[in-house]
This record gives sequence, structure tokens and C-alpha cells, in this order.
Amino acid sequence: MARDLYDVAVIGAGPGGLSTALVLGRSRRTTLLVDGGAGRNSPAAGVHGMLACDGMAPDELRSAGSKQVREYPDVEVRDGRVRTVVSRQHGFAVELDDGRAAVVRRVVLATGVREDLPDVPGVAERWGRGVMGCPYCHAWEMRDQPLAVLATGGGDDAMFAAQLTRWSSQVTLCTNGIEDTGDEGVLRRCGVSVRSQVVRRVEGRDNGVEQVIFHEGPPLRCAGMFLHATTRQASALPAQLGCVMLDDGSVRVDDAGQTSVPGIYAVGDMARRESSPSGMTFVVSAAAMGFVTATTINQDLFLDTLSAD
Ligand SMILES: Cc1cc2nc3c(=O)[nH]c(=O)nc-3n(C[C@H](O)[C@H](O)[C@H](O)COP(=O)(O)OP(=O)(O)OC[C@H]3O[C@@H](n4cnc5c(N)ncnc54)[C@H](O)[C@@H]3O)c2cc1C
Repeated sequence: MARDLYDVAVIGAGPGGLSTALVLGRSRRTTLLVDGGAGRNSPAAGVHGMLACDGMAPDELRSAGSKQVREYPDVEVRDGRVRTVVSRQHGFAVELDDGRAAVVRRVVLATGVREDLPDVPGVAERWGRGVMGCPYCHAWEMRDQPLAVLATGGGDDAMFAAQLTRWSSQVTLCTNGIEDTGDEGVLRRCGVSVRSQVVRRVEGRDNGVEQVIFHEGPPLRCAGMFLHATTRQASALPAQLGCVMLDDGSVRVDDAGQTSVPGIYAVGDMARRESSPSGMTFVVSAAAMGFVTATTINQDLFLDTLSAD
């Protein structure tokens, strides 16, 4: 049932937001969880590296999480997207795209990130199927098969290709005409082949990858492709709220998920402590951040109540 005032709004129902809402619900905090739909890994066939759920379909994992969260009477889930969060005297007004609104004491942003993929025909539609970003999540499924790495120019393409040789001895770095792909020596030491021609397109049935076609020279047969894509915030809310960002575009948070804006927390892929490595974004870490942040907010609200007495 809709309320006038909630303890917390959790915006985004991926692993980060769901985990936050679960622990808040278990702490008997009135929580509004806004579910904006598909998450970052939704194109993938399975979620890997998540204990007890290894290989489960991403949507199945989300709906199992959502079902568990809905069991807690203090959690209300609304489908939709949050358009604005505006600071009020004792909290925030949260407004959804369809005009529905709520007043809350704390806000948890869990809106995730999205990739900027290279503009090479065949890549975008294969993202998450034959074209992957994270070897820890997907290289095991392509082990011992010929793999292509498409350079994106971040300066670490060579090291990325070299590390993939942990999973396959047949790795080819396609520089796509990019001159600086990083440490060339590591390519030689790890036995990575190099194709320096510009890529015309990537081909394969059922959104898999079977070959890379170049502007010149023969096609490269392969069973999958990896690339390092840059990411950006999936929603405008952190910028709208004036949250301080780190160099890689993550929202800066402290150990408890607190952003630079009092009362606004952030969890999951979108947020990072300055001391944590950039780009280490996983389902298990998003869920872990959600757990810790929920306990901090519960404690914070409890202390607020004590000091008001
Ligand atoms: C192709 C691919 C495959 C991957 N495979 C794996 C894997 O096997 N194992 C692994 O550990 N990690 C994997 N990852 C990484 C994993 O997807 C993320 O680490 C994880 O989804 C992070 O969870 P999150 O809750 O932070 O964000 P997300 O899962 O992206 O969820 C964010 C949610 O916020 C919603 N949202 C955005 N804006 C709004 C708004 N304004 N209002 C309301 N809702 C909003 C979105 O719709 C989305 O549902 C993969 C990533 C990709 C791209």
C-alpha cells in the first residue's frame, strides 16, 4: 500500500538495489524500491561467479531476488523510472516518470552503468552473447577456443589480450588501426597474435561470433570476442544531485556507500570508493555493497530518532 513517507527510496532493482531493499525490509524500514527494468547484464545467457547461482539467467536471478524482497511487508516495489530527486528540509522528494511521487528520508541510488561500445558493425547486437567484456564472468565458457580481442584504445588492450591466454592459447588482438595498444612485449611473451587492419564487421549465427572481417586480408575465425568498453552512468540522477564523481565516472562513495551529498547513498556498478580498483564491477560486489549500505542507513536513521527524542 502506498504511504506518504518512506524511510528509504532505493532507485534501481538490479543486484545492488535488490540487496539493499532486502536488508532494509528485514530491518523493518519502510522502503520504496523503484524497478526501472532490464539490468546491465540482461543480454547475457548466464550470470557467472556468483556463488550458488553460477550460470543462472540474469533475468531469473533478478526475479528470484525481487520475489524474496516482496515478501517483506515494509518494502513496496513500483515499476517505473525515477525522473527527479529533490532535497527537502528533512529528506527528499522522489518523482517517477509517470508523475507518481513520494517523500523519503534517505535515498539509495542503484541505477548502474552502461557501456559505450565501439562503432563496429556486428558488435552491439552481439554484446553479452558472442562479444563479452569480462573474462572472469565469461571466458571459462569459451576456454581453449580461438578468441579475438578488439582493441578500444584505452591503453591496456595488450595486457587484456595477454591475460586472456589464461583461458585460451589462441588469442588474437585486433588493433582495428589503433596504434597504441599498450605493452607490445607482453603480447610476444604470451604468444598473442596481432591483426592490425581495420575491422569491417563481426559475423556469426545467433548473435555468436564466428569470424572477424577486415578491410584487407583474410577473415579471422574465432569462437568469441572480448573488448574493454568504457562505461557511463545509466541515469542522470547522480549528476542532477551534484554527487562528486571519480575520474572513471563512478560516483564517489565512502566505505558505507555515502556519497558527497548527505542522505544520498550509492551502491553497485555506479559507485566506487577512491581506494577500490576501477572497473571491478560484479553481481556479487553490487549485492555486497547493498548489504553494507542498508545496515549503515538503518543505524543512521536509528540515531536520528534517538537524537530527536
Ligand atoms: C554483458 C554483461 C555480462 C555480465 N556478466 C556478469 C557475470 O556473469 N557475473 C557478474 O558478476 N557480473 C556480470 N556483469 C556485470 C553485472 O551486470 C553488474 O556488475 C551488475 O548488474 C551490477 O548491478 P547493479 O545493481 O549495480 O546494476 P544493474 O544490474 O545495471 O541494475 C541497475 C538498475 O537500475 C535501473 N535504473 C536505471 N536508471 C533508473 C531510474 N532512473 N529509475 C529506476 N531505475 C533505474 C536499471 O533499469 C537497472 O535495472 C556483466 C555485465 C555485462 C555488461
